[in-house]
Formats: sequence, structure tokens, C-alpha cells
Amino acid sequence: MGQVVSTPAELRAFPNADRGFVPTMGALHAGHLDLIKRAASEHEQAVVSIFVNPAQFSNAGDLDRYPRDLASDAQIAFAAGAHLIYAPQPSTIYGTGFSTWVDPGPLGDRWEGAFRPGHFRGVATVVTILLNTVRPRAAYFGEKDFQQLQIIRRMHHDLVLPGDIVGHPTIRDQDGLALSSRNSRLSPDARARARAIPDALRAMQRAADGWTRKSAVLENLGMDVLAMSGISPDYLAVVDAGSLEPVPDAAADDRILLAAEVGGVRLIDNMPVVPIGGA
Ligand code: AMP
Repeated sequence: MGQVVSTPAELRAFPNADRGFVPTMGALHAGHLDLIKRAASEHEQAVVSIFVNPAQFSNAGDLDRYPRDLASDAQIAFAAGAHLIYAPQPSTIYGTGFSTWVDPGPLGDRWEGAFRPGHFRGVATVVTILLNTVRPRAAYFGEKDFQQLQIIRRMHHDLVLPGDIVGHPTIRDQDGLALSSRNSRLSPDARARARAIPDALRAMQRAADGWTRKSAVLENLGMDVLAMSGISPDYLAVVDAGSLEPVPDAAADDRILLAAEVGGVRLIDNMPVVPIGGA
């Protein structure tokens, strides 16, 4: 069994030879566990942070409702191979007089950023603090949150932060829905309808492989699949994977981004235009 620590000083007491790091907000599911298993298999020591970051919530109710169960999360993380859990208090991360923020620029203003003002500033700031505290050889992030991953890659490069940033593929339920701690809030009806989200993305991939690379045509096709389940997305767009700018004609390594509210629960997903290894 590993150990749970809550301050940078306690963390520093552990030798840091070769550390793989997985930052999370807890409520761990099989998607998180895949990241932890990978970090543990690729490094001598796997560190998992569990911190519900107040700075990335624009809605106080959402922050209050976020599930917190450190004892159960710690057990699950240790079983997946974590050696050390870093679970700081908000006052440890944002101490008295805290006033320095990391602004991810335009990458943080569009898509999710447009619906959640300040969200990526909160993410970029806490990830910077966590990387500087944990000092890993590599930090693992899910492609599930593709915009977040690209913002972190950009920031890591621009600010010359330590270690490598590693993206990990999205882990999905049997019917294709991306695993998320929010899925437990879906009613049975909403859960059934949510399947249209991966279905729409896959329909767009098939069309891109078979008959069109016109983004507008692909997007209309995806909208039709969603509409059949009564879903009207916040956005559905084919974008350049690096700049996240919309592209008129889809290339294989462009990305399809999708966000939609289903039964009152906001879900996000994304896929490459051409699946890795071919369509
Ligand atoms: P969170 O606890 O939601 O902040 O997520 C912590 C990390 O797990 C982030 O890097 C997420 O992108 C990643 N993650 C969440 N869900 C999945 C999933 N279904 N597949 C892969 N990674 C995921």
C-alpha cells in the first residue's frame, strides 16, 4: 500500500528518481485507472494527485456537488499501481496572498473556454503548480479532454516546464460513450441518448474515410445523428489538432470536437478524423 500526503514538504520527503504523474480531481473511474497503470508501468514511482481545483469551476454549485471520497479513491489508485497520492487542501495550493495566474491565451478562449470562462486559466495554473511540486519525468493526460491536453502541451513548451507531457487515448464504455465522472449523473433515458455522441463522431469518421473531407458536410452529418436522439450540441467542429482552429477541409490528423448537454449533464468528446491505424 502506498501513502497519501497533502503538502509539498511531505512529498519532497520521498526520493524522486523516476516519477510518472497523473493529475486528477478524484471520483476515479476506469479511464483514470488506465492512466495510472500506464504511469506505473513506465516509471519507478507513480504519483497521483487528487485535487478538486476550485479555480477551474465557474459555477459554485458545480464545485460543491463534485464527488469527493479520498479514502475510496486512494484505495482504487493504489490497486492500479500508484505509489503515492498527493491530495492537497485548496489553501495549500492557493495560499494567503496568492495572485499569479497562468493565462493560456486564445487556445483557452474557444470551445470549452467559451462556455466555461476562466476554466482553462484555472487548469493551466494548477497544472503548473502541480508539475513544479511533483517534478515528474512524465505527466499523463487523457485525450478525452483534448483541448485541455493541447493547452497543457502548449504551456509546457512555452514555459519550459519540467518532464514530458504524454497524451493517453480515451477509455470508453461498451457502447462507445467516453467514461466520465459526470456519466453517473445521467438518468437512464439520458444515458441511452448519450450514445449518439460517439455514434455521431464515428459516422463522421466513416464519411471522411469514404466520401467527403468537407468539414461542413461532415458536421451536418454528425448533427443529424445527434438530432435523432434529440441532442443539439453546444459545438461540433472539425479543427486543426494543434491550433484548434476550424478547418474547411478535414485532414487525417485533424480533430472532431463535440460538446452537448444531455438531460442536464454537459458531456464532451472528440475523435481524430481518421482513427489511429486507419479508418
Ligand atoms: P479529471 O479527474 O476529470 O480532471 O481527469 C483526470 C485525467 O483523467 C485527465 O487527464 C483526463 O483527461 C483523464 N480522463 C478522464 N476521463 C478519461 C477517459 N474516459 N479516458 C482517458 N482519460 C480520461
